[in-house]
Amino acid sequence: MLMQNNYDYIIIGAGCAGLSLAYRLLNKSHTVCIIESSDDINKRNKLWSFWDTYETPFNHLIKKKWKNLLISNENESIKINCEDYNYQSISSLDFNNFILDKINTSSNIDILFSLEVKKIVKKNSDVVVITDKDEYFCSHVFDSRPNNKKTFMKQQFFGAYIKSKEDIFDDNLAAFMEFTTIKNKFHFNYILPFSKNMALIESTFFSCNEEKKLLNKEYINEYMREKYGDKAYIIEKTEFGSIPMDIGINSLSEQFITKIGSFSGATRASTGYTFINIQRQVDHLIKIIPNIQKNKINTHFHKFILRKMDSIFLRIISRNPDYMKNALMDLFRTSSHKAQIRFLSDMPSIFDIMKIIFYLPKLKFLLYALGIREKNDK
Ligand SMILES: Cc1cc2nc3c(=O)[nH]c(=O)nc-3n(C[C@H](O)[C@H](O)[C@H](O)COP(=O)(O)OP(=O)(O)OC[C@H]3O[C@@H](n4cnc5c(N)ncnc54)[C@H](O)[C@@H]3O)c2cc1C
Repeated sequence: MLMQNNYDYIIIGAGCAGLSLAYRLLNKSHTVCIIESSDDINKRNKLWSFWDTYETPFNHLIKKKWKNLLISNENESIKINCEDYNYQSISSLDFNNFILDKINTSSNIDILFSLEVKKIVKKNSDVVVITDKDEYFCSHVFDSRPNNKKTFMKQQFFGAYIKSKEDIFDDNLAAFMEFTTIKNKFHFNYILPFSKNMALIESTFFSCNEEKKLLNKEYINEYMREKYGDKAYIIEKTEFGSIPMDIGINSLSEQFITKIGSFSGATRASTGYTFINIQRQVDHLIKIIPNIQKNKINTHFHKFILRKMDSIFLRIISRNPDYMKNALMDLFRTSSHKAQIRFLSDMPSIFDIMKIIFYLPKLKFLLYALGIREKNDK
């Protein structure tokens, strides 16, 4: 513990991005302070799932891996082969505790809780981070605070951790998107079976409106009744999430501030996946950190082509969700699963992108790309 008020770097926020960056800075020559407004970052546990497309230092924290995923609607189930890129999950509780332990025994990083950053100002060669209690000085700030701007769409979900008395789940198969029969809404169930009697069941919307219905325990109980009849189970805990889906979120800021995390644009607009993008972002920052002020960081995390495609996906989802559900079923019915996974994980090659475009409805996408709406779209 350094306990001073002058550091080389200040990281605002001890969420996934702040802690991921701090982990890379452990026991380096720079002094670092993390300032976090909450008194307990483990109050809201999250489960981060992602495909194994990028090497991270957190492999030992992986709770479960799946080699097959399912996408389905009322008529059809399609298996997505993830042999090459396993789908896997890390609990934020394990992640936070692992990194907090390292920070507590580190020689160069302090972490301060219950301090809310109010303002960041430049004073001569110093950057001053003004909190609700004290002021802290540094040469550069990494800022992971969310902003309150309205986003185009949000991924809204309610999840329940189910423990059943008998073995009822197939723990080799996770349901990536189980589209429900609800018309004119992009609604699906997401099911991660950790064992034969433990699973996370989530009800999820991609929506421009605040969704209230179906994001509750009653929906999960109804789902369990329909699927498993009178099999006994308990709900051990629940989680609620809201993830921004907007291609406009970017990392524009002052020269002495680098935005990181979800609200720097690391969240993929069309899917909400963020964890791996944050790992890529902080790995890049670590390489350029000695010259951070001189290096020009891309304002947009995602490539132009991905932003353009995501903007089309989001607009079709908002205006004709049923059409998009069918288009996704058509896409995954093709066998190019590796290309699809790399596309969803933000690491597609140009050939992967060409394959995706080839299997999507070209006329509809072209019309949306040109800003022309079709008759039956809202
Ligand atoms: C329930 C849930 C499940 C998710 N599942 C997945 C998934 O399966 N796969 C995936 O890839 N992504 C997933 N995500 C998305 C993504 O991984 C997370 O949102 C990610 O945690 C974002 O990290 P972050 O550090 O950018 O933001 P945050 O985790 O929000 O961290 C920001 C931190 O800043 C602090 N803060 C805010 N204001 C101030 C202030 N003024 N002063 C000081 N501190 C401040 C906050 O308290 C917070 O701790 C999920 C998100 C949620 C909510």
